[in-house]
Amino acid sequence: MSYNQPERRSKRLKCLVCGAIMPGGTVVCPVCGVGSDRFITIDAQAAAFKRDTDRRFLIAGAGIAGVSAAKAIRERDDTAAIALIDVEEALPYNRPMLTKDLFGALAADQFAIYDESWYERQRITRVTGERVSSLDTKAKMIRLESGADLMYDACVLALGASSFIPPIPGADAGNVFAIRSLSDARRLEKAAKSEGVRRAVVIGGGVLGLEAAWELRKFKLDVTIVEAAPRLLDRRVAPAASEMLAGVVEKAGMGLLVGAKVDSLVVGVDGASAVKLADGGTLAADIVIFSTGITPNVSAAKESDIAVNRGIVVDERMRSSAEDVFACGDCAIFGGARYGLWAEAAAMGDAAGANAAGDERTYKRGLFPMTLNSLGTSLFAVGDTGSDPGKEYRTVEFRDDAKATLAAYHFVEQRLTGVTLLGDVSAMRDAQEQVEKGITYEALFGET
Ligand SMILES: Cc1cc2nc3c(=O)[nH]c(=O)nc-3n(C[C@H](O)[C@H](O)[C@H](O)COP(=O)(O)OP(=O)(O)OC[C@H]3O[C@@H](n4cnc5c(N)ncnc54)[C@H](O)[C@@H]3O)c2cc1C
Repeated sequence: MSYNQPERRSKRLKCLVCGAIMPGGTVVCPVCGVGSDRFITIDAQAAAFKRDTDRRFLIAGAGIAGVSAAKAIRERDDTAAIALIDVEEALPYNRPMLTKDLFGALAADQFAIYDESWYERQRITRVTGERVSSLDTKAKMIRLESGADLMYDACVLALGASSFIPPIPGADAGNVFAIRSLSDARRLEKAAKSEGVRRAVVIGGGVLGLEAAWELRKFKLDVTIVEAAPRLLDRRVAPAASEMLAGVVEKAGMGLLVGAKVDSLVVGVDGASAVKLADGGTLAADIVIFSTGITPNVSAAKESDIAVNRGIVVDERMRSSAEDVFACGDCAIFGGARYGLWAEAAAMGDAAGANAAGDERTYKRGLFPMTLNSLGTSLFAVGDTGSDPGKEYRTVEFRDDAKATLAAYHFVEQRLTGVTLLGDVSAMRDAQEQVEKGITYEALFGET
């Protein structure tokens, strides 16, 4: 039986930096670590749809997408069996904190999305240390690498992504790292704390690379960042912000090479000892960290003839090409694009779980900002920030080099397309709204 209950609303907090939704009273965002001055209060709407069944729901992957899907199912179905399968052993955790807390200062309960008792209360069975290898979508069965087969009535694939490491000589040496999981972070922490380790080269100057570099620098390592693009956060932030951010990096005592391509790693008996650049230069390194993007985990879907195209293809209700198989988060691709962001994975997971339980939820992609809280500064960028060579922008900049602050507004045909804020991000809420509305130049600055 399915029925609709009256809507129940409650007050929740939303972090403007990472998009995490939190209970009222939270003072520090558990996902990205910023304080409550970056929170807004929102109305959280409880599920109106309810149908208690004896169906079996299997969720493959216990990141934020999988946990959100499990929660959405339980909110609609009190009696169904829900199992959350993950190859990792740890309680599902706030993955973005890995590069914001590389040296493990956080207590386990601050790091976990929910504590152990939450899963008990929700009657969600955690199956840990098990890798999903494929699905039999006709027999409705998930196959585990250990050999066990698990039957489902509906299944949600929330397998996330892996770090992409370019296939260059030496990239498989023992002292070469990429950060995706808790065990990656702990392995890097151990290496960084080893005797004789002084120099780190971070390949990739995106948000994760910059955060990791800053954590290593705070730990007193000599750090050099190598970025292939001509400027930092190319195409994501205003050009002036890239330039000023480069100044912040250098002031923090780190080396920075932009427009620099890596050729190979020089490997000796103790692992990689240097990074060789395409222009012939070398950078000595005791450890090397790759932060060069992600590859969605799609092998289980591919093995099972589920449509994959740079991710598991889903429609607006997170349905994959196979019946009763949904997908969400970093492993899925919706509308031809994937952003690899926490808030998006959570929202997709919520929609996938709701629809798997029989509700009708359409996922609408929001305008996701890019944020950085590291290097002793803050950066916020939303929308088209002036990097499309095919467009003619009108740009208004408020810049203070001494304070390293910038606010850059970009307009196309008099309408605001994007904003970058550096140093002082207090206007980010307004900026997000103004870009969403495409406010006119005249409305913002009072003249044409
Ligand atoms: C270091 C770091 C910092 C980040 N910082 C930010 C940030 O500041 N802001 C932001 O918005 N986003 C950030 N992100 C991105 C964000 O964390 C991801 O977009 C989000 O975690 C995706 O959630 P997910 O559930 O789709 O995937 P994941 O979190 O990757 O979870 C997938 C789970 O599936 C498991 N799994 C994979 N394959 C299998 C298999 N075959 N069988 C069983 N289990 C499997 C994995 O072990 C994992 O637990 C960051 C990511 C990283 C790695």
